[in-house]
Amino acid sequence: MTGAEYLARFHGEDLEVAIFHPQAGAVNLYDTKRFANTKQRDLARATLTTCPVPGCRHAADHCEVHHVTAWSRDGQTNMDNLAVVCRYHNRTNDDDPDHKHRGRIEIRAGTPVWVSPRGRPAANTTHQYGAMHLLFGKQRE
Ligand SMILES: [Zn+2]
Repeated sequence: MTGAEYLARFHGEDLEVAIFHPQAGAVNLYDTKRFANTKQRDLARATLTTCPVPGCRHAADHCEVHHVTAWSRDGQTNMDNLAVVCRYHNRTNDDDPDHKHRGRIEIRAGTPVWVSPRGRPAANTTHQYGAMHLLFGKQRE
């Protein structure tokens, strides 16, 4: 029995359940009414509630879904490669890891985090109610 089958059988169709792994991050979202892209967007918004760039106050609901490894660099549209990032920081992200100017989003311990051009990760502590923080504790870097 799959997770989706279990939920449909015992909890009906109106329940939405997200599964998170302590290291891999968002694993899956069970909701039979939604398409995969919507599920991925919902999981990305549940993982972080704001853009991951320190000090940025753009809420995840108003962010774009960013490919951590750029689509143009064969980055896949999978949860381990997606993050919500505001429009401005999505445009200024260093998509080329060897071209370091403004910093870039990386996924560390299952959570998107901004990494400075010198390679130092820094969390956005503006709003710490993302699922990974709530489920597994301290601000993840
Ligand atoms: Zn931002």
